[in-house]
Amino acid sequence: MKPLVAIVGRPNVGKSTLFNRLARRRIALVEDIPGVTRDRHYWDVEYEDRELTIIDTGGFVPGEKDSLLQQVREQAQLAVEECDVIVFVTDARAGLTAADQEVATYLRQSGKPVVVAANKLDSESQSVQAHAAEFFKLGLGDVFPISAEHGLGVGTMMETVVGKLPPLTPEELEARKKAREREEAEEEWGAQEGEEGEEQEAPAEPEEERPIRVAIIGRPNVGKSTLVNALLKEKRVVASEIPGTTRDPIDSELTYKKRQVILTDTAGIRRKKTIAHRVEQFSVVAALKAMERSDVAVLLMDATEPAVDQDAKLAGIAEEKGRALVIVVNKWDLISEDKRKQEIFREDLKHALKFVGYAPIVFTSALTGSKVEKVLELAVELADQFRYRAPTPQLNRLLSHIEESHPAPIVGRGPLRVYYMAQVGTAPPTFAITTNRPDAVPDMYKRYITNQLRKTFDLRVPLRLLFRERP
Ligand code: GDP
Ligand code: GDP
Repeated sequence: MKPLVAIVGRPNVGKSTLFNRLARRRIALVEDIPGVTRDRHYWDVEYEDRELTIIDTGGFVPGEKDSLLQQVREQAQLAVEECDVIVFVTDARAGLTAADQEVATYLRQSGKPVVVAANKLDSESQSVQAHAAEFFKLGLGDVFPISAEHGLGVGTMMETVVGKLPPLTPEELEARKKAREREEAEEEWGAQEGEEGEEQEAPAEPEEERPIRVAIIGRPNVGKSTLVNALLKEKRVVASEIPGTTRDPIDSELTYKKRQVILTDTAGIRRKKTIAHRVEQFSVVAALKAMERSDVAVLLMDATEPAVDQDAKLAGIAEEKGRALVIVVNKWDLISEDKRKQEIFREDLKHALKFVGYAPIVFTSALTGSKVEKVLELAVELADQFRYRAPTPQLNRLLSHIEESHPAPIVGRGPLRVYYMAQVGTAPPTFAITTNRPDAVPDMYKRYITNQLRKTFDLRVPLRLLFRERP
């Protein structure tokens, strides 16, 4: 689970400028996803050997009618509830303002680690230090003079931020060690890996015993809490808090067909504190956080009020995070019994959410309980597909079949050749393909291979393909 670092501060202090600078350290994306990549306010980045998600809370400014202070307060609240470390940005040229004080009060009460960035200090002169010193008055501890625009001081500040992150768990350390060993082994063995076939990596836990984590995401009011309650009513609740896993009361556990399922209701995240009014974008941060630790995301939308842009954004995050996805069209009781109507809705939705075309769609009524069990059934099914391991011999048979029926295209000076395919990871299933021209594989061909993999192994979850050069 990647820790969240929120960038907070009143408008115009330089939050976006800092955010854009930090985003340069982002972890490479597999592909661009429409609806997410454009106009985005969070990135996964790497600093000091730690992966973290940075969020520009300035990007989540609610409606115009709110007063400036109210906006700032809400952003701060959001950050306080969801984040591991907060970067509080101030404008050192403007000096300490009442709005800064206001935000600082919230942050102090939160008890979360904060670093203060005294921004717009573009030179390293003595007076810079003097400007920054003023912000010690906020009583938040460390103050870092920075220039977000020129990058001055940002590295030093980020070292401290990383130092304040929750330490890696023993499991995470172990997983890292394994990943490193695997990388080294792969480098040594090179192409032989494909021929030898079998994957050495053993699953950390027996799959059957591992609980399935399901995040219930969606805009406010689509029926998330109603759905969770319906599911819990139907399947006896085992425990509302599971010791050892998390103490978060928004997690509920149930058993379904002898499998342990943990539901995270992101509506609960928002409701823990009373917030003056509903902020649409809250669901994005809550969803991000919940998805970080889930296998499956259940995305609810309101059949009576489709908001394609917002829904697509959440679906895009699920795809980008590589989570299995169930799309739920809720409140169907208010629409119609007509099957044809459902098919039309489904086709429109499939078109709007093309980039997650693999995700199953269910029409439910959380209120009446219609089809709610289907959601659970799909979530469990997808969780298994999410951790599926394809046998290597079968993969290579598939590859030869692909080559025969659909030869690789000619790229540049010569034909593209594909040699072997092996599964190198799960959750999501990740396949490595050895080729003579890894950087020249056309998107069409990638899509074709992905679709063949889906068909052959019946995988309705996101897949990742890696192309590697034959040594
Ligand atoms: P936000 O509203 O907090 O996201 O602030 P922006 O990132 O949009 O920045 C507000 C203004 O401050 C812009 O005109 C930036 O160019 C400027 N700015 C941001 N960082 C710096 C900096 O380090 N030095 C200077 N001189 N200006 C900056
Ligand atoms: P959340 O904000 O996503 O958790 O949404 P809630 O579960 O609080 O539901 C918002 C409103 O929609 C409530 O008034 C629910 O009773 C209503 N609602 C939820 N699911 C359904 C449904 O399937 N059909 C109908 N007609 N109303 C629903």
